[in-house]
Amino acid sequence: MTADELLATVEDRGVRLVRFLWCGNDGTVRAKASARHGLAGRLSSGIGLTVAMQAMNALDHLQPVAGMGPVGEVRLVPDLETFRILPYAPHTGAVLTDHMRLDGTPAPVCQRSFLKRMERSLAERGLSLRAAFENEFSLATALDGAYVPVDSALCFSTIAMTAVQDYVDELATALELQRIPLEQYYAELGHGQQEISTPHAPALQAADEQLLVRETIRAVATRRGLVASLAPKPWPDNAGNGCHVHFSLWEGRSNRFYDGAREDRLSNTGRSFIAGVLNHLPGLCALTAPSFNSYHRIVPQFWAGAFRCWGHDNREAPVRVASPFAGAEEASTNVELKAADASCNPYLALGGLIAAGLDGLERGLEPPGPVEVDPATLSDDERAERGIDRLPATQAEALDALAADGLLLGTLGVELADAYLAVRRSEWEAYAAGDQAFEQQGHFAKY
Ligand code: GLU
Ligand code: MG
Repeated sequence: MTADELLATVEDRGVRLVRFLWCGNDGTVRAKASARHGLAGRLSSGIGLTVAMQAMNALDHLQPVAGMGPVGEVRLVPDLETFRILPYAPHTGAVLTDHMRLDGTPAPVCQRSFLKRMERSLAERGLSLRAAFENEFSLATALDGAYVPVDSALCFSTIAMTAVQDYVDELATALELQRIPLEQYYAELGHGQQEISTPHAPALQAADEQLLVRETIRAVATRRGLVASLAPKPWPDNAGNGCHVHFSLWEGRSNRFYDGAREDRLSNTGRSFIAGVLNHLPGLCALTAPSFNSYHRIVPQFWAGAFRCWGHDNREAPVRVASPFAGAEEASTNVELKAADASCNPYLALGGLIAAGLDGLERGLEPPGPVEVDPATLSDDERAERGIDRLPATQAEALDALAADGLLLGTLGVELADAYLAVRRSEWEAYAAGDQAFEQQGHFAKY
């Protein structure tokens, strides 16, 4: 879409404000909006933003990071292709943005530019990653300061479906109007818990759309007097919200994860990619499941993948090879990362995933044998023998693993890595010093 086309659409549709969206190191979505007046200029040169925002944590506490204090500006420069009219906000549109320096080059801390760099590394090898985020979320009403789930119905229950059918209809419509068709919807296990899936797309588009989907899930709820939360563990004693990432690697029109000659259809390329992901998984978790609350979700026997392993259709494995569908074997061969949730910055999550998988490809790594049982049912000795260890059990452990992962740090670059670690470590300090209620308030209505 050209700027002229965008401006014409804005005019035709009576759009008054266009939100310039970004996702920070804290995984929250923030924006500044441009009025129609002056929009043409802002589409090309961006909106000014303090450099400090990339050092802001999810409590709005600014962290001391070199070069990210009160002095200095970046520009939020939109990618015009991402323009959408927001069906849930009156006369409002949105674009996703890059953080650019004043000289027009990407700011080193720009997460979206990091993902573009990782996509370029794949493109140099003729490859591209396609991904889909599968969002689980909880619907609640806020009553006297407490969040009460909208139902207490059973998993996949039609009673639960009926309870929220008007919300889901509005959600599906709002997504469709943003060119993000809904694939599937159902009521999940937890009270008030829902799950939607949307189509897979090239990594950058998938990450952009993930932010639009999160915005839509929450905003449609707000319009109906509900609160939608994508927090990883919205209530301590209720099911967790995963945001599983399905991914596959393509060369032109062929799925490089697919090998029709193998029983499980997973190619050697797929196996090496998985081996890279497993190899870097502890540090990768700090990007894909990055909040304090994330580690109350990733615990054994909650189907979130707490032990480092992979398996076929194994929902206790953080890396699950999904069985392909008959008649569409190549198109449907994909791998799922379960150790992921919607408190992540999706650009960092997918960029880190590419870095890890590519490392597996480059080094020709082979994964250990697949695990086809719940790893929690193996004895400590059996797990040790098979090289199955526990993934980080806290945000702090995940951040330490990231800080020790030279490959991931190197691909992030020093500015982004430093800012990211400072922001997330400060969240750990804040929430580790607080109680359960403080943790819930700090996550429920922010993700
Ligand atoms: N709610 C689970 C999670 O935390 C996932 C359940 C499922 O397999 O869909 O990831
Ligand atoms: Mg699910």
